[in-house]
Amino acid sequence: MSVYSPSIEKLIEGFERLPSIGHKTAVRLAFHILNATNEETEEFISAIRNAKQNLKYCSKCFNISDTDPCPICSNPKRDSSIICVVEDVKDIIAMERTHEFKGVYHVLHGSISPMNGIGPDDIKIKELLQRIQSGETITEIIIATNPRVEGEATAMYLSKLIKPLGIKVTRIAHGIPVGGDLEYTDEITLTKALEGRREI
Ligand SMILES: [Zn+2]
Repeated sequence: MSVYSPSIEKLIEGFERLPSIGHKTAVRLAFHILNATNEETEEFISAIRNAKQNLKYCSKCFNISDTDPCPICSNPKRDSSIICVVEDVKDIIAMERTHEFKGVYHVLHGSISPMNGIGPDDIKIKELLQRIQSGETITEIIIATNPRVEGEATAMYLSKLIKPLGIKVTRIAHGIPVGGDLEYTDEITLTKALEGRREI
């Protein structure tokens, strides 16, 4: 039997379901919430609720945004002829931190992983193709998937699909540790990887 009351137990369980949160941290967070003022608690609850209700996917790039299209797609200063393809919304944030990339993005929401039963149809590849074939001028597709087996497989798959359409396809250079994530790569390494991209 648990040493905690059922209400606390439920709160702890809720925190434990969050990524990177172990049991000890979950207990600490649960007790932190219990000690917070009602006002603080309400603010936190409504932040979660608002984020869930208001955030949507940009219908062009599948970034998460309060607006559709997202601020990047609707910014006239961005070069919409260059699309940087990333696996995750968090990778956009990493790229934006470099302040080097002036194009737009396309979020795949995953990578091809036969081991995990994820095929090309399970991620936003069709949507990328539709975008390319929509008649908009696109001069380059930069593939910035993570340098893992799945990211590389996805890059190769995309290259084979897009190159025959007569569009330049590049892959960001290595320098990002193999098996690493764009999300955790520092700005300088990521800027160098972008500058050193090669045609594939
Ligand atoms: Zn967008």
